[in-house]
Amino acid sequence: MILSAAVTADGYLDDNGPGRLVISTPGDWAAVLRLRAGCDAILVGAETVRRDNPALSLRDDAERARRAARGLRPDLSKAVVTRSGRLDPSLRFFTEGDAERYVFSPYDIPELEAVATVISSEGAPVTAVRIVTELEKRGIRRLLVEGGAQTLGLFLGEGLADEVRYAVNPRLALGSGRGGARFRFEPPAAAPCRRESIDGMEIAFCTLHEDTTAEDLAGLREAIAESRRCTPSETSYCVGAVIRTCDGRRFTGYTHETSATHHAEQEAIAKALAAGAELRGAAICSSMEPCSQRASEPESCTQLILRHGFARVAFALYEPDRFVCCRGALMLREAGLDVRCYPELGEEVRAVNAHLWR
Ligand SMILES: [Zn+2]
Repeated sequence: MILSAAVTADGYLDDNGPGRLVISTPGDWAAVLRLRAGCDAILVGAETVRRDNPALSLRDDAERARRAARGLRPDLSKAVVTRSGRLDPSLRFFTEGDAERYVFSPYDIPELEAVATVISSEGAPVTAVRIVTELEKRGIRRLLVEGGAQTLGLFLGEGLADEVRYAVNPRLALGSGRGGARFRFEPPAAAPCRRESIDGMEIAFCTLHEDTTAEDLAGLREAIAESRRCTPSETSYCVGAVIRTCDGRRFTGYTHETSATHHAEQEAIAKALAAGAELRGAAICSSMEPCSQRASEPESCTQLILRHGFARVAFALYEPDRFVCCRGALMLREAGLDVRCYPELGEEVRAVNAHLWR
């Protein structure tokens, strides 16, 4: 998840005027469009869609062609988050471009169903955790959040921003009374920030979460190797899990390894506990999303992971809605764990479970 904001010297994202306040210089705007082109989806708040009426399309033909050559739609998917559901289907967000469109709302919005996929949180407030999880299930990994202030704050507040691109126009100040929404970003002291000037703008590019991709992929490949030891069954998935503790100990498990009701994560956790390992802060890599409900055991793997204080969970494939509707990734993220999905290994997990996909 990348956050991108352009603000005035006094921290405003927009002014109180009727039109759109242009903060970025042409060179900065071109850089933002390149950033967009490298993402899978772009997210904005409903206020931004109502006020600025952006199409959020990629206008650069070269970028569009590059995306098409990679087998992607020329436009990135776009998403909007609304609390009120007041969005007019004739807005450019809904009418322009060939992108997939998503609307996140606490409630269903029947009048938008012809122009977008409406994802309701069934009366609950829309959270960044839910947005990230629902988009990820639909194949969207690299999400660019462009504002406004409330939407940017939602992602920062829930700790879901991996990178922030914060662009300040030092020559543009609105002064008190003229500013609209303010957005101030102060990078945490430990966050590495790369700073550069682009066409008169001062840009800070800050990394809020260290990239664990290499370590997670290595753990997931081990987990998938473990899953191949399972005996295929018509009633459960073949899953493998690998735990890495903070002090470098490693424990593995696979479905039904020691008991006909044990899941992979449970097997690995049991081995770690038997060895006296400290699981607080540990990482667990599971070939499939940890389950969130169990009939044959008192606790789901999600509950076990939470109870033992794991800090990070990586998996390769969201559990299909075959046996139950799994909410593991959502619940783990809601509890504040760093949860990462690596769909590039998903096909391998499907292959291990080919008996269930026949
Ligand atoms: Zn499980």
